[in-house]
Amino acid sequence: MPSKDTMEAMSEEPLIPYPSPAVLAPGGPSGIVTSLRMVAFDIDGVVLRGDTVLPAAPHALADVIGRGLLLRYVTNNSTRHRVEVAERLESLGLPAEPGMVLTSAAATASYLRAEFGEGASVLVVGGDGLVAELRDAGLEPRPVRSATQAPGAAPQSETPQPSGIPAPPDITANSDVPVAVVVGLDVGFDYATLAAAQAAIRGGAHFIATNADATFPVEGGVLPGGGAIVAAIAVASQQEPLVIGKPHLGLARALVDEAGGDPAAVLFVGDRLDTDIGMAAAAGMRSALVLTGVTARADLDRPGVARPDFVLETLADLSGVLDGLLADERMR
Ligand SMILES: [Mg+2]
Repeated sequence: MPSKDTMEAMSEEPLIPYPSPAVLAPGGPSGIVTSLRMVAFDIDGVVLRGDTVLPAAPHALADVIGRGLLLRYVTNNSTRHRVEVAERLESLGLPAEPGMVLTSAAATASYLRAEFGEGASVLVVGGDGLVAELRDAGLEPRPVRSATQAPGAAPQSETPQPSGIPAPPDITANSDVPVAVVVGLDVGFDYATLAAAQAAIRGGAHFIATNADATFPVEGGVLPGGGAIVAAIAVASQQEPLVIGKPHLGLARALVDEAGGDPAAVLFVGDRLDTDIGMAAAAGMRSALVLTGVTARADLDRPGVARPDFVLETLADLSGVLDGLLADERMR
């Protein structure tokens, strides 16, 4: 459990990196640079576009496995459980099992378990996938809409005060006070949800966001992302969240831990400079930008953008990058 000082620091300093960049410095805590062990792929725009597998992806993924490297699929999407993500990838003919998938929901669950311990009560603004990940990690998730309604009672929104404004929710009515409010994309988000999250955070619960994505890509356009909901709760509670997903470092930490503790052992392949390459650079991972998604080569000339170590036209260029990295290691 963090000290009060830590809690105050969290509330005063928006979007603090987790963990600190120093912890993820290349070479890791030991200072010894290890070999490449993992290639982690963002999903949309890298291996898939919508429901279509990008042409070079199957061979590139098989090549990673064939070289004995760990393969991971990484997504900021918090709405699906890893099992569902793996099933979808597998149904599209890609090599996938739940242990090869890391979502912002799963990384958030790992963080909360490490920070608050087994059985910690967390209030959830998010989908079923997030609730399941939290439960799998040994936490006690309470979906916010069920938490604000006493068993058998009418929903809060149906018992408004005379003004038409609902009474502030008593989030302690049904059980203990949550240690954290966890926020991801929640398509049922409404005023009562906002009020419950606000009440819990004002009552001292930590404010944790799975991701801060402004938009959510769908066939033919975009919808509001989890970040839009996080922003509403931040304004209402006057607190800034700790964000786990890309480009923040909670998700990076989970990957680095799996790769043995050295960020340089991970090559991250993504299509966005701000989230994918930004996270990899901040974490000390190697990074490759692939131009099959939202970024064009000309975007690299914009000032202030994160610089990838490699630029790939398609994933067909990955095997040359791996040849080079693994040859460098043999020469050391
Ligand atoms: Mg992407």
